[in-house]
Amino acid sequence: MQLLDGKATAESIRVELAEQVKIRKQEGKKIPHLAAILVGNDGGSLTYVNAKVKACDQIGFESTLIRYDDSVSEEVLLAKVKALNEDKSIDGFIVQLPLPKHIDEMKVTQAISPLKDVDGFHPVNLGNMVLNLPGFLPATPAGIIELIKRNGIDTSGKHCVVIGRSNIVGMPVSIMLARNTNPGNCTVTLTHSKTKNLKEICQSADIIIAAIGRPGFVTAEMVKEGAVIIDVGTTRVNDSSRARGWRLCGDVDFENVSKKASFITPVPGGVGPMTIASLMINTLRAMELKGK
Ligand code: NAP
Repeated sequence: MQLLDGKATAESIRVELAEQVKIRKQEGKKIPHLAAILVGNDGGSLTYVNAKVKACDQIGFESTLIRYDDSVSEEVLLAKVKALNEDKSIDGFIVQLPLPKHIDEMKVTQAISPLKDVDGFHPVNLGNMVLNLPGFLPATPAGIIELIKRNGIDTSGKHCVVIGRSNIVGMPVSIMLARNTNPGNCTVTLTHSKTKNLKEICQSADIIIAAIGRPGFVTAEMVKEGAVIIDVGTTRVNDSSRARGWRLCGDVDFENVSKKASFITPVPGGVGPMTIASLMINTLRAMELKGK
């Protein structure tokens, strides 16, 4: 079994991006600037946004964190999105999801200019992804593809089973792996909570991508010998042995599945750091696309 070390792979991407920033600085060019909007005080969202800001610092990007209380109105949030769309100093921005229930997430996502949508969630960018046209790829699926690529995993002709069909992970990664690209050219089965015989379907998979949010859902008996396992799940579970009282748990029973897998991502340290690396790649591209 070989560990798909997302932390190490993301670190090598960070070094490459930092080098590009250094060269841009020497040439007196603009430095990429990412803005992030965070609504509320959810611990998970705060951790993710802080990690994105920290990655910007490490690479040498500029970053701006905009925070609102849980009670912020949809109108105020949409006005901020419009202002960021028009702000020439900002190359790309994200609105950290989930948003409070009184705010329509799709409305906010659609209000972001596709040219600054570095999370790749806007319908225009998702459409470009489907048609294999230039655009911003959603950060987590793009991170998974990059992890597969940089670790030399052959996907062509392989059966890939994706568990979970969310707009941000399962659905886009299934399309990206089915495209005529490298990595890609997989025969993909996209599964969800209504799928029958999931265990049997998984047993025939060369690659399993689990994005469900159920700790330990993928067990060893679901996995064939030599399969590649990508675990996207990040659920906080209580753990009194940790000072903070919890730990992050993936969707895969790592201890037992790793004994059968050829490659497997850990949680944490697998897909999470690659998501942030993709966001940084998209931010640099957002600036370059504007000819800056
Ligand atoms: P989501 O919106 O929470 O949806 C979960 C998906 O899992 C749904 O499609 C659901 O099916 C499916 N599902 C639930 N129970 C199932 C079952 N018993 N069998 C088969 N499918 C089942 O998904 P998400 O936003 O992609 O999040 C999934 C996990 O990934 C979460 O733990 C999240 O925190 C994590 N995540 C991590 C990163 C990262 O960077 N590491 C990024 C994004 C998300 P239905 O559609 O039928 O309801």
